[in-house]
Amino acid sequence: MQYKIGIGYDIHRLEPGRPLFLGGVEIPYGKGLLGHSDGDALIHALCDALLGALALGDIGEHFPDTDPKYKGISGSRLLKTVKELVDSNGYGINNVDVVVITQEPKLVPFKNKIKQTLCSLMNIREDTLNIKAKTNEGLDAVGNKEAIACYAAVSLIKS
Ligand code: MG
Repeated sequence: MQYKIGIGYDIHRLEPGRPLFLGGVEIPYGKGLLGHSDGDALIHALCDALLGALALGDIGEHFPDTDPKYKGISGSRLLKTVKELVDSNGYGINNVDVVVITQEPKLVPFKNKIKQTLCSLMNIREDTLNIKAKTNEGLDAVGNKEAIACYAAVSLIKS
């Protein structure tokens, strides 16, 4: 197979007093994403998309939240590890598309930094990665500022 595609989704609860990490970047907000890891829903969705394209399951299977060694694990470390799996399976990342749904904080001021960080973690060109920031129009938990949700789609090309 020359090409493979994968999709990923994640949602985490926002909790006061935690640092907010999205795409490996700390965003000043006063609330952060709750999780056994650092709660980086963007990177979790992206890792699941990459694992999906490789037909290798999901991050819950690779990094179980019942295992204390993954407590507090950063999104950056997860993404680097999953990218190594892409490489070792003989594929390269062709392109990445991400949707971040957050009522607050506004993501626009951080989009460039997130893009640079993700591209550097995966060692890919910036013109192969796109980030879209949406609100939830005030609807449901995300619209009520109780959570942040992310979708990711990737295509891999045989290297
Ligand atoms: Mg997650």
